[in-house]
Amino acid sequence: MFKGVLFDIDDTLYDTSGFAKLARKAALNVMIDGGLPLESEDAYIKLRKIIKEKGSNYDKHFNVLTREVFGEEKPLLIALGMITYHNVKFALLRPFPETTSTLLHLNKRGYHLGVVSNGITIKQWEKLIRLGLYHFFDEVITSEAAGVEKPDPKIFELALNQMGCKSSKSIMVGNKFSEDIMGAINAGMSAILVNSKLTESEKDFINKEKIELEVLENIGELKDIL
Ligand SMILES: [Mg+2]
Repeated sequence: MFKGVLFDIDDTLYDTSGFAKLARKAALNVMIDGGLPLESEDAYIKLRKIIKEKGSNYDKHFNVLTREVFGEEKPLLIALGMITYHNVKFALLRPFPETTSTLLHLNKRGYHLGVVSNGITIKQWEKLIRLGLYHFFDEVITSEAAGVEKPDPKIFELALNQMGCKSSKSIMVGNKFSEDIMGAINAGMSAILVNSKLTESEKDFINKEKIELEVLENIGELKDIL
């Protein structure tokens, strides 16, 4: 049996939240230049509401926005928004500065690496390819493939099975306590929280349940403990 390290992607390997906001704002500004009659900030609030309602994997947020504003879809504005969003997103898509060297370190130390992510399989591979990280991972298990989402322990078990790794010898690294950390612990793994602070109630819960959890500032600190 191999020792495995599973990773979440978004806000664990790279700064999703930061770049998505910039890309959306840039897209809206181009749409406003093209005739969308909203102020930049109002447009962003409206778009965020649509994304919240439809989910981030829905691919017609800009269609809905023009429909809400004009009462009908505006194809040119939608295309301007989509293209700007994608161009800015791809221009900004970079791993955290410490990500690549950390994955390399773990590979050299003999760990098998995998990804467990709530999302669509091709989209998640696409991210890893664009980030220049895909060759580090033996398996990418998504909620689409597993039929369940994190924190369901089944998605972690499926990934470890496919990697030939034992849960008691494996570690999950992620930024969301409820999804990444609790899911992994319920699957019998250890867990490491990165890029995130525990809330007081989470701290109380950890103490009460005697959960052993490592909390790191960033992914680079993994090199000191693994
Ligand atoms: Mg995440």
